Amino acid sequence: MARLVVLGGGVSGHTAATFAAKWLGSAHEVVVVTPNSKWNWIPSNIWVGVGQMSKEDVTFDLAPVYAKAGIIYHQAKALGIHPEGNETSDKPYVVVESTIDGEDGKIENIEYDYLINATGPKLNFAATPGLGDANGLGEFTVSVCTADHAVHANEELEKTIVKMKNGERQKFLIGTGHGLCTCQGAAFEYIFNIEHELNKAGVRDMADIKWISNESFLGDFGVGGLHMKSMGFAVSSKIFAESLFTERNVDWIIGAHVNKVEKGKVHYELLSGEMGEEEFDFSMLIPPFAGVGLKAIAKDGTDITATLFAPNGFLKVDANYAAGAYENWKASDWPKTYQNPTYGNIFACGIAFAPPHPISKPMSSPNGTPINPTPPRTGMPSGIIGKAVAHSICDRITKGENAPLHEASMADMGAACVASAGKGLFDGTAAAMTIYPVVPDFDKYPGTGRDTDYTFGEIGLAGHWIKHILHHLFIWKAKLKFGWTLIPE
Ligand SMILES: Cc1cc2nc3c(=O)[nH]c(=O)nc-3n(C[C@H](O)[C@H](O)[C@H](O)COP(=O)(O)OP(=O)(O)OC[C@H]3O[C@@H](n4cnc5c(N)ncnc54)[C@H](O)[C@@H]3O)c2cc1C
Repeated sequence: MARLVVLGGGVSGHTAATFAAKWLGSAHEVVVVTPNSKWNWIPSNIWVGVGQMSKEDVTFDLAPVYAKAGIIYHQAKALGIHPEGNETSDKPYVVVESTIDGEDGKIENIEYDYLINATGPKLNFAATPGLGDANGLGEFTVSVCTADHAVHANEELEKTIVKMKNGERQKFLIGTGHGLCTCQGAAFEYIFNIEHELNKAGVRDMADIKWISNESFLGDFGVGGLHMKSMGFAVSSKIFAESLFTERNVDWIIGAHVNKVEKGKVHYELLSGEMGEEEFDFSMLIPPFAGVGLKAIAKDGTDITATLFAPNGFLKVDANYAAGAYENWKASDWPKTYQNPTYGNIFACGIAFAPPHPISKPMSSPNGTPINPTPPRTGMPSGIIGKAVAHSICDRITKGENAPLHEASMADMGAACVASAGKGLFDGTAAAMTIYPVVPDFDKYPGTGRDTDYTFGEIGLAGHWIKHILHHLFIWKAKLKFGWTLIPE
């Protein structure tokens, strides 16, 4: 009997664990270690953050789902990996710490034959003074990165609506809270959902809404922008985004590294080197992401964290980390199998794998401050990669350790993204986009790096309905309800 241990029960880890349990059956063990008792459909946190959904709408208890799937569930967080075992045993293991109320701090070692690191991002609020600290989100801004953050964001939003109804003008500042953030799409959704809700509340004319982001142009989204087919024309995401911001009367600051947050004010540096300040009454700034800080220890007790993990804390996989300057970047730098090069029984999926380099062009200010989006790994690629990694491991367990690995390169994968721009059955809108491939391949598709036949976008009510249906479909799938395997990642 072999044991697969999956660290992280989020979008990619849950996908990997549930497929592995289905494919392996009861002949082998699948174990999930994850600190939360609930699963969260993170994309819908946006709607929690504007009071259109509750925390209960976007979360569910993991324990009954894992019991149904025959998955062994540890509500705990992983602290370290011992890929060579220890002085008394060669068996690799992970060290985990319980997060169950009343058991906090209880340490356990869990042995594995195969390990998947799907621990997602550490929300690194501490990277920007005032945005937060080692304990998480600070007191001056809000966040929608977790369901609890989104509940709090909505409470703060409601206070501003009351103030505007009482005749007090309010300034909203939404975007990224550091020069090296990713996940611009989430901030994009949130700013337009706020704009939509303020309209509905009849206070839009009392609000000044501004975007601040590390993108060098509006519509970069961390993928270097894209050219999409729309109504027969190839439209750049820059034009698309600028039109939408202008139409909705949302101002913008771009190429900005937010370097300090105070009560009611952010300080930032621009790509031009110029320094600026912006005041706000309400601000949601996405933090930069890092790895969750797992340690790796060799058999003799030596710290080998730098062997397994990149300096940003993400797990090294089969990527080309020596690509060097932007001019040398190739689609083939991107990982295909997500296998760790040193320990062949360790894999990563979702945000937890170390990308070879950004997708957007790297930039810095004349002061040497890097200001560019880091690469997004959105839900669809995270799920596809999780499933491919699970497939590889299941094959190795059932067919032998030389079974070929499955591939899921982001340079050979399309993604669909539906970005909400306001929720409402009849007046909602969302930008529905497909992009192929996620990582541009300029050798295969000279010019834009992408196949414009498969890269398109539309904004409208239909997009909102798709987004709403996807919310229910993905929660259905994650709960392993009837036909779950038929719903694509
Ligand atoms: C507000 C917001 C909106 C978004 N909207 C969209 C969208 O519309 N479309 C889209 O495609 N993508 C969207 N995304 C991105 C999407 O949520 C991510 O791509 C996806 O969640 C990544 O999956 P993951 O499994 O890598 O990480 P996660 O889903 O974050 O899962 C990581 C898991 O690991 C657990 N973990 C953390 N530390 C440890 C540890 N030490 N040990 C064990 N487990 C640990 C976490 O608790 C979590 O359960 C959005 C993201 C945000 C923040």
